[in-house]
Amino acid sequence: MSMDELQELVVEFRKTLRELSRSGCTTVPDAPCAPVVEAGPELSEAVPVAAAEVPKRVHSLGAIREDIGDCQRCALASTRQHIVFGCGREDAALLFVGEAPGAEEDRRALPFVGAAGELLDAMIVAMGWTRESVYIANVLKCRPPGNRDPKSEEVAACSGFLAAQIQAVAPSVIVTLGKPAAQLLLNSREAMGKMRGVWQDYQGIPVMPTYHPAYLLREPAKKREAWADLQQVMGRLQSLGIKPE
Ligand code: SF4
Repeated sequence: MSMDELQELVVEFRKTLRELSRSGCTTVPDAPCAPVVEAGPELSEAVPVAAAEVPKRVHSLGAIREDIGDCQRCALASTRQHIVFGCGREDAALLFVGEAPGAEEDRRALPFVGAAGELLDAMIVAMGWTRESVYIANVLKCRPPGNRDPKSEEVAACSGFLAAQIQAVAPSVIVTLGKPAAQLLLNSREAMGKMRGVWQDYQGIPVMPTYHPAYLLREPAKKREAWADLQQVMGRLQSLGIKPE
């Protein structure tokens, strides 16, 4: 058995244990609770983050990062400083998704650092969690120059990696930060005002769209609405029997 196969088994085993724990089981059954996943398309066949287009095979985060490598799959490779893969717990119950790295993220190779990242950290702590106990990723792994909007070909080239990351982490709840992340993940054209605060679905995982922390820094009056959204997330996790880790 290769290291990759072993890592995949560990990821699956962790998920199964967590699902059993959440469903109140105290003993491990003889047969696995999760359906057996069949080999699917290779990760490098990256596709948009559309619900039915997620790779069937579950890869570990390490394998996904390895597959990205020194990615040259879109033009952003020529302007980035670093690939910003994502960070946090491999089996996090709570996953945050943003649009793309900014200048500071590109420089430090980490998602949500700088002023907006500090606010996101504060929001996560206010929910009772920590940055280390959740998972944070972006739709695009490389910074669009000048923080311009992502082009459709860039999203098409990159978003399959996010889909694979979501599969690997298998969170119980996803929070999207800002309109582009919500629209890209949910394949929606709705305005942020209509999407935020309303539960959506991605591959059977509940999704709560809320404002991007950078927007909240510009419009502090909107923090009240964002907090209401996050309170819904806290309530959902609580109803699933999931406590902050
Ligand atoms: S944005 Fe994604 S697809 Fe484009 S070069 Fe970076 S990692 Fe590769």
